[in-house]
Amino acid sequence: MKYIDEFNDPALARRLLDDIHATATRPWAMMEVCGGQTHSIIRHGIDQLLPEGIELIHGPGCPVCVTPLEMIDKALEIASRPGVIFCSFGDMLRVPGTDRDLFQVKSTGGDVRVVYSPLDALRIAQQNPDRQVVFFGIGFETTAPANAMTVHQARRRGIGNFSLLVSHVRVPPAIEAIMQSPDCRVQAFLAAGHVCSVMGTAEYPELAARHRVPIVVTGFEPLDILEGIRRTVRQLECGEHRVENAYPRAVQDGGNRAALRMLEEVFTVTDRAWRGIGTIPASGWRLSDAYRDHDAEHRFDVGGLTTRESSLCRSGEVLQGLIKPHQCEAFGTTCTPRTPLGATMVSSEGACAAYFLYRRLDATAPRPEEATPVG
Ligand code: SF4
Repeated sequence: MKYIDEFNDPALARRLLDDIHATATRPWAMMEVCGGQTHSIIRHGIDQLLPEGIELIHGPGCPVCVTPLEMIDKALEIASRPGVIFCSFGDMLRVPGTDRDLFQVKSTGGDVRVVYSPLDALRIAQQNPDRQVVFFGIGFETTAPANAMTVHQARRRGIGNFSLLVSHVRVPPAIEAIMQSPDCRVQAFLAAGHVCSVMGTAEYPELAARHRVPIVVTGFEPLDILEGIRRTVRQLECGEHRVENAYPRAVQDGGNRAALRMLEEVFTVTDRAWRGIGTIPASGWRLSDAYRDHDAEHRFDVGGLTTRESSLCRSGEVLQGLIKPHQCEAFGTTCTPRTPLGATMVSSEGACAAYFLYRRLDATAPRPEEATPVG
């Protein structure tokens, strides 16, 4: 496929790997921020091809995984109410809440619908003026502009029965939190290319300078990732800590100006809880006061829920790069993509799902029906 196959070329991959091997003289630990990068790394075995001592730490950049349990429970509560049509991307339906998931709400009569765009949900609202239609707006800087634009459209077109349950998160405050952790081993970051295609790179130089860490904007295909690692290793070996863009075919320093304008118009920065990690200051967006009447949390008054995580699940440690998924005792036994205990085993970007699908280290052999990809 044009524009994809070129970035899977084995001969070019070999050359990049040779350069990395020739450059690395010491052990280094770098974090790939995005779950999509984690899946590409594990799927192609990139981590196993690197020089011994070059460690890739899997970061918290899986939107489904970091959506806080309280927000999942709020979604379950709203979706259970009569008269509500609850719309979501498919990968949220199997994320465990405190005592059930959205599939179970649907199976007991809730009107839960999988959509492929927030605009699908807006169309459903327009077609059902006597029902309340809620879209579950989760994710990083990548999905936020489309959700912001949908709320903006709802306001402009007077679709008052549409609301957004918002749980958006931002990458730079997460990098700050990771670097401030006393357990932090991260010496460099492969920043998420798609996030930077929206936001640009302006938020990163200050972080790189203050924490003295290279931050290399990296794409998702094997050659993209190897090039990101190659540049990162070069900086580390030279004692540099700059922001570099290794994904120029998608990322411009100024980002996507139209998307940035829409984010500024509709959202406002807020503290946000990350599942398994805790609250990170200024790490999320909520609807601004001007759009509060389209805020599902406000419209449905769903405060005061009591949440309870699985006592077995160590996804918080996985998301912070403190353990690898197969080091969790439940991995591949009581926790599989079919019977997930945590969101990191559900999501198509979750590290536990990646390890299960592509490696199954230290796990008992899965049943064949468990080996089908999740998504
Ligand atoms: S393997 Fe399952 S239980 Fe363990 S951390 Fe991952 S999601 Fe949680």
